[in-house]
Amino acid sequence: MSATAKPTVTGAEARVVALTEQLLGDHPPDSTPEAEFLGAQFDLGLAWVHFAEGDGGLGLPPRLQEVVTSRLRAARAPSAAGRNPIGFGMGAPTVATHGSETQRRRYLRPLFTGEEIWCQLFSEPGAGSDVAGLSTRAARDGDEWVVNGQKVWTTLAHLARWGMLVARTDPEAPKHRGMTYFVIDMHGPGVEVRPLRQMTGEAEFNEVYFTDARIPDHERLGAVGEGWHVALTTLMNERVSIGGGAAPPGAGPISEAVRLWHAHHGTDPSAAAKVLRDRLVTLWIRSEVNRLTNIRAGQNRKLGTPGPEGSTAKLAMAELNKDIYNLCIDLIGMEGTTYGSYAMVRPTRAGGFENPDIRKSFLRARANSIEGGTSEVMRNILGERVLGLPGEPRTDKDQAWSLIPRN
Ligand SMILES: Cc1cc2nc3c(=O)[nH]c(=O)nc-3n(C[C@H](O)[C@H](O)[C@H](O)COP(=O)(O)OP(=O)(O)OC[C@H]3O[C@@H](n4cnc5c(N)ncnc54)[C@H](O)[C@@H]3O)c2cc1C
Repeated sequence: MSATAKPTVTGAEARVVALTEQLLGDHPPDSTPEAEFLGAQFDLGLAWVHFAEGDGGLGLPPRLQEVVTSRLRAARAPSAAGRNPIGFGMGAPTVATHGSETQRRRYLRPLFTGEEIWCQLFSEPGAGSDVAGLSTRAARDGDEWVVNGQKVWTTLAHLARWGMLVARTDPEAPKHRGMTYFVIDMHGPGVEVRPLRQMTGEAEFNEVYFTDARIPDHERLGAVGEGWHVALTTLMNERVSIGGGAAPPGAGPISEAVRLWHAHHGTDPSAAAKVLRDRLVTLWIRSEVNRLTNIRAGQNRKLGTPGPEGSTAKLAMAELNKDIYNLCIDLIGMEGTTYGSYAMVRPTRAGGFENPDIRKSFLRARANSIEGGTSEVMRNILGERVLGLPGEPRTDKDQAWSLIPRN
C-alpha cells in the first residue's frame, strides 16, 4: 500500500459506521434525553459491539467499538461509563460471560442506560487483597439464599440498584472453592448502606451490612461454588476498566499538567522552570506509552476475562497518575497547600470528578494504587503470570476455609 492509500473499510466496519450515523441522525445528542440516547445505542448493538445481538452488541470484533466511541465522543454524545462505571466496566462483562439469557435480558439494558447503577461487593474488613478469604455468608433456604456479613469500600453503593456480591456458601471447602456469586437487590430488606469519608472530604464509597438479606436463587450468577471463577471475570475487567482507557493523545490528567505549566511557568526562563518542564515531558511520554499500550491490548481483547495485560495497565496508570498530580501541585506552588473544603459530599460519580479541583485530584490519586487491587498485588500478578517467576507461598490454599486462622 502506498503511503497515501487509505486503509480498506471492512464490511463489518462499514456496518458499524452506518449504524452509528443512524443513531446520531435519529437521536441528536443535544436534544435527546441521556437514557433515551443510550437505550437507542444499546438497541442498535452499539453498546458493546463484541457482545451478542440482543445483549447490546453485534457479535463483532471488540476493536470496532473504538469506531463507535470516537465518533460519539466527537458528537458529544452521552457516555454509559461515566454514570455507571462499575456496572459498565465490570458488571456488564461478568453478566455477558456468566449470565443466563434471562439474566442478560434483565440486567444489561438498564445498566447501560444508567437507569440501574451497579456496585461491587467484594472487599471486607478482613479480606481486601486476599479477597478469596472473605467471610460474608450466604446460606441456602429453599429457592432463596440468606446473606449475613459486612462489605467495605463499596463505591457508589448509595446509588446502586444492584450489587455484585461474592459470598461464602461452603465454609468447609478450600477458600477459592467455597464461594458463590450473586446479583443482590441493594434496595431489598436487610441491606444497609453507610457512608465512608475519604481524605478528599467526599464519601464516594460505603460500608454495606447484610442482616438476613434474601436473594432469590435465580439471581445467582454461575454455579454454586464457582464464585471465584466468576469473580475473576469481574476483577480482570476491573483492572482494564480503571487503567485501560485510551483517550485522545494528551488528554486526561496530563492535559492538566500541561495547562498548569503554561499558566504558571510558560514564560519563566529560570533553570527551576526548565527542571519542571523536563518532568512534564517525561510524564507526557509515559502517558502516551500507556495510551498506545492500552490501544494494543484493547484490540487483542476478546469477550470474557482479559489477560494479565489489565494488570500492566492498572499498575502503570496508578503510578503515573500519582506522579502527574505530584507535579501539578509543584507547578502551582503555595496554592497547592490549601484546600477549599472538607465538607462531606455524596458524589453521584466515582473518581472525584465532580467539582474538579487540582488539589482534590492530587488527594484522590492516592487511592489509584489501592482501588481495584494494590500496585504490590499487580506486581505479584505480573511476576507470576507474565514473567513466570515463582509464586508466593500459599499455605492456606488447600485447607478448609473454616480452619484458616483469621481476626
Ligand atoms: C477508592 C477506592 C474504591 C474502592 N472501591 C471498591 C468497591 O467498589 N468494591 C470493593 O469490593 N472494593 C473496593 N475497594 C477496595 C479495594 O479493592 C481494596 O482496598 C484493595 O483490594 C486492598 O485491600 P485492603 O484495603 O484490605 O488492603 P490489604 O489487602 O490489607 O493490604 C494492605 C497492604 O498490604 C499489601 N499487601 C497485601 N497483600 C500483599 C501481597 N500478597 N504481596 C505484597 N503486598 C501485599 C498491600 O499492597 C497494601 O499495601 C476500593 C478501594 C478504594 C481505595
